[in-house]
Amino acid sequence: MIGVFALQGAFLEHEKMFEKLGAPCKEIRRRAHFTDDLDAIVLPGGESTVQGKLLREEGLSELVKEAIEGGLPVFGTCAGLILLAKTLSNDENVWLGTLDVTVKRNAYGRQLGSFRADIPFEGVGDFPAVFIRAPYVGALGPEAHVLASYGGKVVAVRQGHMLATAFHPELTDDVRIHEYFLREIVP
Ligand code: GLN
Repeated sequence: MIGVFALQGAFLEHEKMFEKLGAPCKEIRRRAHFTDDLDAIVLPGGESTVQGKLLREEGLSELVKEAIEGGLPVFGTCAGLILLAKTLSNDENVWLGTLDVTVKRNAYGRQLGSFRADIPFEGVGDFPAVFIRAPYVGALGPEAHVLASYGGKVVAVRQGHMLATAFHPELTDDVRIHEYFLREIVP
């Protein structure tokens, strides 16, 4: 059972990807939805500040942080990467702070607000990545492993049971990164 955070943003698209792969999902909006039958969780793209505040207001922040620190597999895309990051280089917030990376928000500037690029993704192959006001990873701790880069910047990382991308695999019809998550990270 995959718990997809449905506070804000592109959560439905993740559910569709997992449906295609035959993995059941449930939406998490409130504390009571964050049950212990979850095998993994997903933090979707959207607006990290809004999502982070809602997580706090719902009393979910600490619970989710502890669950991830305790080994619950997590997949974060775009805003999800920002929520997971230990440090943001251009924002004073730290939300969950479990992933040992420094992330820059809205890192591609206004001209490159959104774009698409084929990028090599380790263990998957070339992937049609969709970036929307995307962040990138500026620095990584020793445990974080680069899975994909674009233009010299890191855009996908794995740290043990945590997977995060700066782009949106859920906005394509290519299920391979979701499949990678289920195969390599969810036990
Ligand atoms: N720019 C957004 C943020 O900083 C992330 C964009 C996205 O999730 N597509 O939260």
